[in-house]
Amino acid sequence: MKEFGYLRPTDPAHAVELLAADPHARYLAGGTNLVDLMKLGVERPRLLVDLGRLPLRAIEPADDGGLRIGALARNADLAADPRVREAYPVLSQALLAGASGQLRNLATTAGNLLQRTRCLYFQDITKPCNKRRPGTGCPAREGVHRDLAVLGASEHCAATHPSDLAVALAALDAVVELLGPDGARTLPVTDVHRLPGDRPDLENRLLPGELITAVTLPPPVPGARSAYRKARDRASYAFALASVAAGLVVRDERVEWVRIAFGGLAAKPWRARTAEAQLLGAPADDASFRAALEAELDAARPLRDNGYKVPLARNLAVRVLSDLARESVR
Ligand SMILES: Cc1cc2nc3c(=O)[nH]c(=O)nc-3n(C[C@H](O)[C@H](O)[C@H](O)COP(=O)(O)OP(=O)(O)OC[C@H]3O[C@@H](n4cnc5c(N)ncnc54)[C@H](O)[C@@H]3O)c2cc1C
Ligand code: SF4
Repeated sequence: MKEFGYLRPTDPAHAVELLAADPHARYLAGGTNLVDLMKLGVERPRLLVDLGRLPLRAIEPADDGGLRIGALARNADLAADPRVREAYPVLSQALLAGASGQLRNLATTAGNLLQRTRCLYFQDITKPCNKRRPGTGCPAREGVHRDLAVLGASEHCAATHPSDLAVALAALDAVVELLGPDGARTLPVTDVHRLPGDRPDLENRLLPGELITAVTLPPPVPGARSAYRKARDRASYAFALASVAAGLVVRDERVEWVRIAFGGLAAKPWRARTAEAQLLGAPADDASFRAALEAELDAARPLRDNGYKVPLARNLAVRVLSDLARESVR
């Protein structure tokens, strides 16, 4: 591993100053992704700015009745928080579907959102990769791409975003709070990650030096049920081949409110807005759910070996929505 500097500021504004002053500096949160990538030589920071002493760990009620989650809240603490389990079960379930108990004890909210792709070629510095080294090519297109994207990919990159948490946050309409050299701002979580286009190296819309300080959830929607389900190669310790986060309100057997987001299908959590629009006011039954999800997944453009993800994601989402509809009429 290359030598690097290490600083532990206690004030968020100071952390931002340090990052802004050095384009080769990186924020370090739990380190469960960044340190692995440093060992592989994929990340070679000159300076690590350890966020561990910043006061950004609290999970607290927001003024509007929602929940404000500090950027450094551990995945394990967030999953176990009684307010999350009660009012936002989709979030707790998504967190518990990710990684292992040990990793969740270290991994943070912001670090989970900004973790990098698990594409094999991205992690292997002996291979070309447009995301790691722009203009070198995308060997995954002809090579190993069984786990890669079917939605929103480009000829330049078909990486997926590996986070489970981000998918639940997308379905919950969460908002990310940022602090940068020019002050504070917010960004809907669905706008944080970018699709690859012809610049797969640009993964998110954070400005240079910006620090995620918190993620806020809107107040729970009255009468809504929510759930997360994930399909993976092993029952634990594996990334999503496809996953779905959904929330549903049914009134008089019709869909009154619905949120659907997919994981494992794209370079960002994929909000199924076409399906949501089609479902509003429709009968809350399997036929409507299937038709709406087929309309959404019509945009899928699988590669040679990942077409299985399309029916997998559709069936997973139909199952989750019909379970939620059944719970709603109990
Ligand atoms: C074996 C294994 C299995 C895993 N399985 C899953 C899984 O199934 N599902 C899943 O979702 N994840 C999984 N993970 C990934 C794990 O969840 C992430 O590594 C973790 O969430 C990253 O959080 P961290 O705090 O450790 O981030 P770090 O590694 O510290 O940082 C990650 C990135 O975020 C940046 N960053 C961190 N905090 C901030 C901030 N506040 N503002 C701006 N930038 C910031 C860092 O600079 C870095 O680029 C797995 C990891 C391993 C090793
Ligand atoms: S899919 Fe993206 S991350 Fe993977 S090799 Fe191609 S360019 Fe690199």
